[in-house]
Amino acid sequence: MTVGLDGAAVENALGSGRLGCPRVGCGGLLARWGWARERTVRGAGRLQPRRGRCIGCLRTQVLLPASVLLRRADGATVIGAALLAKAGGAGHRRIAGQLERPASTVRGWLRRIVSVAERVLAVCAAAAGEVGVEFVPPAPTAEPVAAVVELIGALARAVARRLGGSCSPWRLAAVVTGGRLLAPAGPDLASGWAMGGNTNSLWAAGL
Ligand SMILES: [Zn+2]
Repeated sequence: MTVGLDGAAVENALGSGRLGCPRVGCGGLLARWGWARERTVRGAGRLQPRRGRCIGCLRTQVLLPASVLLRRADGATVIGAALLAKAGGAGHRRIAGQLERPASTVRGWLRRIVSVAERVLAVCAAAAGEVGVEFVPPAPTAEPVAAVVELIGALARAVARRLGGSCSPWRLAAVVTGGRLLAPAGPDLASGWAMGGNTNSLWAAGL
C-alpha cells in the first residue's frame, strides 16, 4: 500500500485513525503495527516503512512512501526517468548508461511496463475520475510506454491544478498504482484508493 505522505504525516494519520484498509470491501481502519525492514532505495535514500494493521480484518500492511515502488531497489523518480527516456526514443542500453544502472535492470522495467501498460492506463483513468479532475486522455498510440508517460503526466498536471501547488508525476504514479506500477500483474484497480474520502487532503500533504 502506498501513501502520498512523509513519515510524520503517516504517523499522524495512523494515530488518528485516518488510514483505511486497502482491502476491497473491508472498510476497517489501520492502526500502528511496528515497522518493516530498513532498506536503501536508490534515488529515495534510506527508509524504514511503517506497518499498519487493520482493526477490522487484522491484516497487516506495509505503508510505502510515494517515493518507492513495491520490491524495487530504485526509487519511483529513477524508474520514471527511464520510462520518460524510452518514450523519447532511447533504447535500454543508453538509458542504463544515463542512469548508471545495469542494462538488464532497465530492460526489465521497460518489458514490465509494456506488459502492464493497459492496467496502468485503466488505473490512471480511474484515478482521474476519483479525484474529480478532467483531462484529455492521450490519443491511442502504438507505443505503450509513451502512452503511460503521457497519461501520468496529464494526470499529475490535472491534480496539481485541482489541489494547487505541484505534483510529481512519478510519486503520483506510485500512489495511484499502490506501489504496483511495475508489479508482475500490474496495479490492482482498487489498490491505490485506501484513503477514500481523505485522498485529496492526503495527497495535498504528501505530493
Ligand atoms: Zn481490513
